[in-house]
Amino acid sequence: MAISFDLAGKVALVTGANTGIGQAIAVALAQAGADVAVAGRSEPAETLDRIAGTGRASLDIRADLSSIEPVQRVVDAVIERFGRIDILVNNAGIIRRADLEVFTEEDWDAVVDTNLKTLFFLSQAAARPMLAAGAGKIINIASLLSFQGGIRVPSYAAAKSGVSGVTKALANELASRGVQVNAIAPGYIATNNTAALQGDETRNRQIMERIPTGRWGRPEDIAGAAVFLASPAADYVTGHVLAVDGGWLAR
Ligand code: NAP
Repeated sequence: MAISFDLAGKVALVTGANTGIGQAIAVALAQAGADVAVAGRSEPAETLDRIAGTGRASLDIRADLSSIEPVQRVVDAVIERFGRIDILVNNAGIIRRADLEVFTEEDWDAVVDTNLKTLFFLSQAAARPMLAAGAGKIINIASLLSFQGGIRVPSYAAAKSGVSGVTKALANELASRGVQVNAIAPGYIATNNTAALQGDETRNRQIMERIPTGRWGRPEDIAGAAVFLASPAADYVTGHVLAVDGGWLAR
């Protein structure tokens, strides 16, 4: 049997795809043949244009994922438009940086709710039709802080470590029923999420010095791993957190 990375006939849902890593993944999934729904709180015009450029269909679902309130509506919209959901990419996420002494409850709840709680309940909502179909792929965007503590970002480290745990928990539960659950841990990627680090001369130099590849990652660097994990080629891969980090963790 030929190994297939082809996503023709598949339907993907990507959260937070108006920019950054989510945009690169949404476009790459479309290039690989999938129709792609994007869910987020901001206008994703550029992403929709780029998906249209691949010849695939898209769907724009406006939803604030800081709470789980919209998750069922989001999945229902995908099913209503396309009749199925094969791939969920839980990408939407935020970060809060502050010293411990002044870290607020709001800094904790906002990050954990968006990055972890919504990820779990959106996975639950998407898994139901996947399980009914006997197949599906859930891909969570984790972080190096699924493995490390980071600096001044405790709620982010907690949430992303939780993403690693939830990925494995759901993988164990769903593996025998045809649904694979994996995560991608991006290294330091130049996006809005890391703008503060890129702008801090000292931190930027420290980060660059530690990346064996010798450069910040680009959103497109993450997209190949997402296509792989979404594809039939990865049908025996589940419960894995795949670092795409220019070698950072190997160092
Ligand atoms: P980004 O450009 O800031 O993208 C984050 C995305 O999440 C945006 O589309 C954003 O929408 C969306 N989002 C945030 N809060 C939301 C909410 N309440 N409801 C709906 N959508 C929301 O940064 P990025 O680097 O591409 O981040 C994407 C994912 O990668 C995140 O999970 C992040 O933690 C993870 N990650 C990034 C890096 C890195 O180095 N950049 C490293 C490891 C992991 P808005 O534009 O409306 O805010």
